Amino acid sequence: MTSFEDFYINCPCCSAWLIGKKAKADSVNQSVLYSDGMIINDLIPANPQKIVLCPACGYLFWLQPDACHNSFSDSERLTAYTWPSWRFFGCNLLDNNGRIALINHYWNALKLLRPISVEQEIIIRKSLLWAYNDLYRDADAWRFVDVVRGKINFFYWIISRKFSRKGRALFDSEKPRFETNLLRLIEILEQDANAEPAIIAEFYRELGDFRMAAQFLSKIVRRTHFINLLISHIQLGDKSVFKVAG
Ligand SMILES: [Zn+2]
Repeated sequence: MTSFEDFYINCPCCSAWLIGKKAKADSVNQSVLYSDGMIINDLIPANPQKIVLCPACGYLFWLQPDACHNSFSDSERLTAYTWPSWRFFGCNLLDNNGRIALINHYWNALKLLRPISVEQEIIIRKSLLWAYNDLYRDADAWRFVDVVRGKINFFYWIISRKFSRKGRALFDSEKPRFETNLLRLIEILEQDANAEPAIIAEFYRELGDFRMAAQFLSKIVRRTHFINLLISHIQLGDKSVFKVAG
């Protein structure tokens, strides 16, 4: 399993101490990469959280790497806020409503964190995309065949299927906002000479614009495992996020 080390940050508004955790690079055993760029290590999202909502005063701020302390005093520890209280804005991601709450936090961050640079807008909008895809990312984790093979309990499978269906329905109900976010993300990346054509192709595919996705892929000469998978999903007319490796 991945092991973590603590870091400490100070809210720039109320000075409350927040305890964070980061994975020790040498302890990561199993990574899963998804087509939208999300990486999961030992069931925990590996992409670091860049925005913090202070659990003490509600102030929203960018987490600057140089603002992270490696230690603090025992007296500060007594009043410090734990990782679960501010991680993912305190949302419970094991619940579909918690996943929607996370999406709403990112939309609010886009409105409230002003001024915002292009790089910062990309960070928020990619986080938003991942949060939307999280609504169904693990939907096919368990199949009925797993019940037959005795891997999971039948009742757990029923509960898990109900949960996944609700997540998918919520994703579908959010489609207009999901597309608005993707269109803006594509618009920004298309103006960036350094943007990866494969990433833009993936975003067009998730939008369901397979013609544009194929057009961007045609700019890439090198054929990687990811590009080959992307081509087959485009040919199938599939716009869902998929597992690339892991
Ligand atoms: Zn604060």
